[in-house]
Amino acid sequence: MAPTATTVKVLESLRKRLADLREHARFQVVVSGVVGAAPPDETFEVIATAKAMGFRPRVLVVHGPDGQIRLSAEERKGYTRLQKMIGRHLFEFSRYRHQLVTTGEAPFKCRAGSRYLYVDEYGTVGWCSQTRQFFGKPLAEYTYGDLRRQFHTPKACHRQCTLGCVRSSSVFDAWRPQKKSPHRLETDAGISVQSKIA
Ligand code: SF4
Repeated sequence: MAPTATTVKVLESLRKRLADLREHARFQVVVSGVVGAAPPDETFEVIATAKAMGFRPRVLVVHGPDGQIRLSAEERKGYTRLQKMIGRHLFEFSRYRHQLVTTGEAPFKCRAGSRYLYVDEYGTVGWCSQTRQFFGKPLAEYTYGDLRRQFHTPKACHRQCTLGCVRSSSVFDAWRPQKKSPHRLETDAGISVQSKIA
């Protein structure tokens, strides 16, 4: 398994360090195989090696720079095989991640810009770190009306979103509707979020 364009933290370059850890570590070692960062068979090899060396295996899923998970059918199959191999309880996945990986979608009512504020180094409020190009307003000008508007604004990127912190802060209002239409969202952001992200 060689370094890829996605990661250089691959088994081949870590074998020697893993052997040292097995020899000297006085703490539990967790080795993660990342689905999507390499072909599924290589993720298998990482997990099998971790088990053989007495380490705790863990499975993670890579996401894109836009914070979205989009796995191929082959990667989804690999995930299911891994699940059988090491058991569901060893996947440190929240329910939405599991749903994302197995079905390809985990929609939610994103309350970014309201329950969750992302303020960047320039003092601009955005929805989250992954969508800075789509919505922004200076914090000093951010009003109660903005909080209400963003609370009711559906985000076109909500189906494959991996932003756990935003999902957590949105969960309390899952039962409340979002009244604005994605069309208004385009007007607010000044560009079409639907066409850029969906
Ligand atoms: S759904 Fe919300 S938190 Fe997720 S990427 Fe879109 S704006 Fe950000």
